[in-house]
Amino acid sequence: MASLNTYNSKRDFGVTREPRGKVARGKSGRRFVIQRHDATRLHYDLRLELGGVYKSWAVTKTPSLDPAVKRLAVEVEDHPLEYGTFEGTIPVGQYGGGTVQLWDRGTWTSQTDDPEGDLKRGSLKIVMDGERMHGKWALVRMRDRDESSGRRVRHNWLLIKEVDDEARRGAAGDALASEVTSVKTGRTLDEIAAKPSKVWSSNRSTEADVKVPKKRAAPAANKKSPVKRKKTAKKAKRRA
Ligand code: MN
Repeated sequence: MASLNTYNSKRDFGVTREPRGKVARGKSGRRFVIQRHDATRLHYDLRLELGGVYKSWAVTKTPSLDPAVKRLAVEVEDHPLEYGTFEGTIPVGQYGGGTVQLWDRGTWTSQTDDPEGDLKRGSLKIVMDGERMHGKWALVRMRDRDESSGRRVRHNWLLIKEVDDEARRGAAGDALASEVTSVKTGRTLDEIAAKPSKVWSSNRSTEADVKVPKKRAAPAANKKSPVKRKKTAKKAKRRA
């Protein structure tokens, strides 16, 4: 039975504008989303709809189209399906604080008739039909040991492109790294960070919007006053 208790316990919903988690009932869809998340480190949050929630992994680099290249995908807590349309900022200091960009979306199917069992066994083979991710992919759990305790930990997976017409070898396998815009709004991470409230749908007051200071140079079109910019730089330092 899917649960969102971990998801909810990690978030202060009085501060962040992410949705409160609720397991969806009676849904058999197979949506997926990938959210590019500029937090402590830039990563790609892969979310596959299964059992009324999004099973979620944080992929540490852009997915590679080369079947010889494996990407570390760290299993994280299940997310509510409402999360799938999410784009904007999570306030600094909150869990996952940073900018979230909707990088891909679509549907997926399992290559077997038991994806739940495959997930438990640590080998999920899927076919993705997204705007950027296509064809066969595999998620394979690694048998890791925690270095301090020697205990087996079960949250590191690998995301691997499987051989098919969508696979690309060598340098061509990095093609997805040049995709830096939102599939929802066409915006870059910097553009989302500059105006988070334009996208976040919420019936709460927009006063809760918090701009996430960016470490990288502001875009040329940025018309912030020098005073404000100074403040932002200070905040960025604190965050780093
Ligand atoms: Mn994330």
